[in-house]
Amino acid sequence: MTEFSRNVAALQPSATIAVASRVKQLIAAGEDVLDLCVGEPDFATPGFIAEAGVQAIRQGHTRYTPAAGLPELRAAIANDLTRISRGNPEVDAHGIVVSTGAKQALFNVCFSLFGPGDRVLIPAPYWTSYPEIVSLARAEPVIVPTSADRSFKVTPDDLERAAEGGVKGVMINSPNNPTGAVYSLEELEAIARWAAERKVWLVSDEIYRRIYFAGPLAAGLLDLPAELRERGVVIDGASKAFAMTGWRLGFSCSSRELADKVNALQSQTTSNASTPSQHAALAAYRAGEEELGEVERMRLAFQSRRDLLLELFAEQLPGVRVTRPEGAFYLWISIDGMRRPDEGSIAFCERLLKEVGVGLIPGAAFGDDDYVRLSFAYSEETLREGVGRLAKVRG
Ligand code: PLP
Repeated sequence: MTEFSRNVAALQPSATIAVASRVKQLIAAGEDVLDLCVGEPDFATPGFIAEAGVQAIRQGHTRYTPAAGLPELRAAIANDLTRISRGNPEVDAHGIVVSTGAKQALFNVCFSLFGPGDRVLIPAPYWTSYPEIVSLARAEPVIVPTSADRSFKVTPDDLERAAEGGVKGVMINSPNNPTGAVYSLEELEAIARWAAERKVWLVSDEIYRRIYFAGPLAAGLLDLPAELRERGVVIDGASKAFAMTGWRLGFSCSSRELADKVNALQSQTTSNASTPSQHAALAAYRAGEEELGEVERMRLAFQSRRDLLLELFAEQLPGVRVTRPEGAFYLWISIDGMRRPDEGSIAFCERLLKEVGVGLIPGAAFGDDDYVRLSFAYSEETLREGVGRLAKVRG
């Protein structure tokens, strides 16, 4: 057996990608399986963005760019962040580092900030990669549980209790994958204040910020006063907001000092994000009201699917508790009422596949074995069929 280095000895493949791949294999083998796993918008990349990518290739923009990204893209992202933030000082383009997806931005930032001996707080349910990314930096992920009766959100008191013994960072994700929970500006401010007082780094993953149902945009770290975000890092990108998952385009927004280190790290690993993708993203971040209409239509479609799902669950599965998502495109479903005694979320999902042919992601992948995640990045017809099948599951 190969003796792997300590860097990767404990590393597990992404649980969500693993389940989603298995469901796809079953479908390819001709099984009658409805895939409700996928974590990406089912819409095509808006035409004006795709066209900018195509034009970039045609015009020969197929070479390296600076590792941190095209200067004009960093400036466009900074301008966009300034525009959407609530009247705070201008966002500094020097603090933006463009990466190959938000996932790489998260990795870069965690690897640059955290290391051996550092503890990092991760509220659960969490996006599946957070603990692995922190562990890759050889820091220690410290899971902070939340509960349905508190909308799966943490407060400064929860963080303070978990921070006993010292902590270097905390990772927040709002709107949240998998629960759809969204922190209000006040809740975010309380956490940022706690982090600032404690001198703890606050990594705020805002990749779903534009997929919010109570308004055009969920609250973000850049809405807060500058003194509360000296140790704040925003992670965001084009993947979800602009239906660009395959283009692999994300970014971090931080202090210049941290951005310089992230830039150095990226220059020694992958260099710049794909050049045509950067040109496509430039069109996205420079888009005016009219072009953004396409993005708004996607948000509204997710919202009406959310409403449809809540209705269908109330009608067909009245005994099953689901969380009302305020953002992102996932429904977080309690398996109490559907599971067999002692059945965990992984065994439950296996059974769902076999008995009714529905693919969901087990909550265990997100740190909560009592739930499963259903993606609503699917047509209303597929969602109706999916809920119909789930209603046939017996505990
Ligand atoms: N953060 C969260 C919460 C996500 O759900 C995802 C993707 O599913 C990412 C980050 C990664 O995004 P990207 O595809 O841009 O790497």
